[in-house]
Amino acid sequence: ADLSALIKAGLRDVPDFPEEGVVFKDITPLLAEPSSLQAVVEGIAARYEQAEVDAVLGLEARGFILAAPVALALGAGFVPVRKAGKLPRETYRASYDLEYGSETVEMHADALSPGSRVVIVDDVLATGGTGRAAVELVDKAGGTVVGFSVLVELGFLQGRRRLTDVEPHALAVV
Ligand code: IMP
Repeated sequence: ADLSALIKAGLRDVPDFPEEGVVFKDITPLLAEPSSLQAVVEGIAARYEQAEVDAVLGLEARGFILAAPVALALGAGFVPVRKAGKLPRETYRASYDLEYGSETVEMHADALSPGSRVVIVDDVLATGGTGRAAVELVDKAGGTVVGFSVLVELGFLQGRRRLTDVEPHALAVV
């Protein structure tokens, strides 16, 4: 079956979450279906089988769910990118603007070796702020982004405009 169609069928639209006017894409039904979970993990990993990936970066929190099995499939390590204040050791930090205020994410400063080949994985690409910050963290650590992959891209938000250097890939665009 077509992976994009499978994903679209497994997503649930939740109006007015987390705030009024936002239609939240709930990926939990997709994760709960064994064949869908397997198909999306394989769908992401398959793109990078020949890419000699050292590390898969997962973006807190739903990015973790996908990034860890993708890392296993590629024989790569898993590295978490977390909201500020969660990681215990020295970190690199990157911030991005939200509609109101800003958000900061962190990665352990010693998580990547210089020259590491990195794939960034998240569930949803929306405005691209989170993805941009993750790319900055890899740059700060001296790594190279060889892939950027999400389950779902919200096309109307045009987040990929902020990520042209890494050419984001989405399994489904809505
Ligand atoms: P961005 O920084 O605006 O691209 O937002 C992406 C981040 O927000 C990702 O880490 C997503 O997990 C989360 N996000 C934004 N919109 C949605 C949604 O509709 N469903 C699930 N997660 C979302």
